Amino acid sequence: MSASDLPLRSPASVAIFTCILTQGPLGRIEVGRRTGLSQAAVTKAVAPLLEAGIVRHDGTLTAAGPSGAPVRVPAPGRPVHPLAAVPGARSAVGVKVTDDEVIGVVTGLTAEVERVARVSLADSAVPTVVEAVGEVAGTLLDSAPASLLGVGVAVSGDIDSGAGVVRHSPLLGWEDVPLVALLERRLGLPVRLENDVRALTIAEHWFGLGVRSTTFAVVTIGAGIGCGLYVNGDVVSGAHGVAGELGHLPLAAGAGGAAGAGGGGGGAPCRCGRSGCVEAVAATWAILRGAREATGDPELALGEAAELARSGAHPVVRAVFDRAGAAIGTALAAVANLVGPDTIVLAGEGTDEFDLYEPALREAFADNAFGAAVRCAIEVRPHSFDDWARGAAAALIRSAVRGRT
Ligand SMILES: [Zn+2]
Repeated sequence: MSASDLPLRSPASVAIFTCILTQGPLGRIEVGRRTGLSQAAVTKAVAPLLEAGIVRHDGTLTAAGPSGAPVRVPAPGRPVHPLAAVPGARSAVGVKVTDDEVIGVVTGLTAEVERVARVSLADSAVPTVVEAVGEVAGTLLDSAPASLLGVGVAVSGDIDSGAGVVRHSPLLGWEDVPLVALLERRLGLPVRLENDVRALTIAEHWFGLGVRSTTFAVVTIGAGIGCGLYVNGDVVSGAHGVAGELGHLPLAAGAGGAAGAGGGGGGAPCRCGRSGCVEAVAATWAILRGAREATGDPELALGEAAELARSGAHPVVRAVFDRAGAAIGTALAAVANLVGPDTIVLAGEGTDEFDLYEPALREAFADNAFGAAVRCAIEVRPHSFDDWARGAAAALIRSAVRGRT
């Protein structure tokens, strides 16, 4: 299958299509107001989008909208014809690479997940991952209902999206891997590479919180602690591609480690070689380390630790989760104090244990947020690995709309 670009030929048509795609259905006057373009410019730019079938007049249709909700029908006597994107006009594939699995989704233009495919990884060597991504994408492409924009790939670590290179991924053990070139050769399709947390933030920007928020943060908890920032209308990439590296701020320096693991008052040792990092008490591996030391059971699983803490049977294990919650809450307060978001979204597999973190998290947040920053709302997204892959699809869609530069 070959890729099919979007017919967006000018900055005005990019702006107008972005507005309709992410905020529609909208009337023409409202599209003009939100993009700052004249009605003549809107009409001129919309005509080829209607002709290409990626935008439609929604008011005359009663079919379900992109989210499954009924679309609006104009009131009698009022000829309003809102413009909406046509989700099924193009498909996108999004893929998340973890250290033991590749998870892929196929979506329409509005990043609604239509199908999921997974392949286990025997190891995280580059050729193994390239082959697995090819397999997942092949399975999904067979079922993609519309012409394809390309493949988005989300990887944790320091990612150069412009160059298509994974510069440093501790999880995969990769340094300077030209993943986009390798995958484009394997797939014969355009590939967009993005840091996984930034991809989730892009999905929130275009198809989630961004509709109602100008400044928000996405904080992921689980194997690592990550943070994506959306400030004054765009996702922050950072001058060097690094921004929002929350997990290795030494905010847990006073928290100590589990018995015997403390760094002489400097906090628990971290995988990065320092100590007192947020991850050193709040990442899944750190919680497991603390719970295993507390119980003396080197095989204890996270679910078992969570049950011990929930049942009240093991106060020391409960304290491990409290310490994690306090570190995450302090980290969230740091984000609120620095950036001033109206909302922080908590996502990632660690949200499965949110009930255990929550009391200490909210207390630490309230203690450390400065002034009005405490009004920042904390929303929790129920976790699904598909969401990471959907983020990769959203990053690909955004890049296809904006152009690949
Ligand atoms: Zn660290």
